[in-house]
Amino acid sequence: MTLTVTGSINIDHVIRLPQFPRPGETLTGNDYRIVPGGKGANQAVAAARAGAVTQLVACVGEDPMAASLVAGFAADGINTSAIDTVAGVNTGVALIQVNDTGENTIALAAGANAALTPERLQSHASALHCKQLLLQLEIPLETNLAAARLARAEGARVVLNPAPAQALPAELLALVDLITPNETEAERLTGVAVNDEAGAAAAARALHQQGIATVIITLGARGVWLSEQGHGRRIPGFAVKAVDTTAAGDTFNGALVAALQRGQALEPAVRFAQAAAALSVTRPGAQTSVPYRAEIEALLE
Ligand code: ADP
Repeated sequence: MTLTVTGSINIDHVIRLPQFPRPGETLTGNDYRIVPGGKGANQAVAAARAGAVTQLVACVGEDPMAASLVAGFAADGINTSAIDTVAGVNTGVALIQVNDTGENTIALAAGANAALTPERLQSHASALHCKQLLLQLEIPLETNLAAARLARAEGARVVLNPAPAQALPAELLALVDLITPNETEAERLTGVAVNDEAGAAAAARALHQQGIATVIITLGARGVWLSEQGHGRRIPGFAVKAVDTTAAGDTFNGALVAALQRGQALEPAVRFAQAAAALSVTRPGAQTSVPYRAEIEALLE
């Protein structure tokens, strides 16, 4: 049985600038690139490159870049049969500004991602007959709910990366087996500030109380807080020289479910995912930075 990712596909337009322009100001940047992005797509690519048989359920628009994006997923070995081309809209777009200190601002247009409705999902119901379903929050919430219900009913493990940060209904959280917020997302979901290990433990407890068995709070360069049924501990990450942390979380999530998919226990799967994410931060871009299984295993040796 496959690993299914239901989520967004975006085209990222990334411009580097000395600083962010103020309202009304025009600033000339020094580098501009168009790169494939979107949390759903990034996580599917990360899972496939980490060795999992992966299917992506998603939507693109009718624009000229859409076909080459889908061809790229197929080249990564992803099953693209449940990627719909939606007439009359554009593929999702992210306009990303990166300043000299590496901070970013991101403006999103959902485009075709908004067309991934529960009705459309229903037409791809067979993709939800999976071993694991990986979700994020760049498609309509009701579609995530429908996907989680369908997959759970088939006995799948439902993994939610609750990004971008937002509050979520208890109904969705109750369908989740494993949740992977970063510090900001954990705080948004629980109201508990995650500034240290005590905060991570308290936020994890609040998520367990919502019915989620396993909580992994990612802590950037410090690694993760892993909590199972209230037993929590920090697992450090890998020390690397970070050049671009875009898609670190996406790489972590894709690699994590890939390792779980082949039957690894949680802790080794977390180490594998942290090695993958560490490699991704040493390279620029989103999908361009996602490593392959052999490189990840080499770092683990
Ligand atoms: P997000 O990108 O979603 O905000 P994090 O910043 O928490 O997520 O990063 C996810 C994971 O990526 C971390 O748990 C860690 O394993 C890895 N990671 C992130 N930044 C670094 C870094 N500077 N050095 C090494 N690993 C990193």
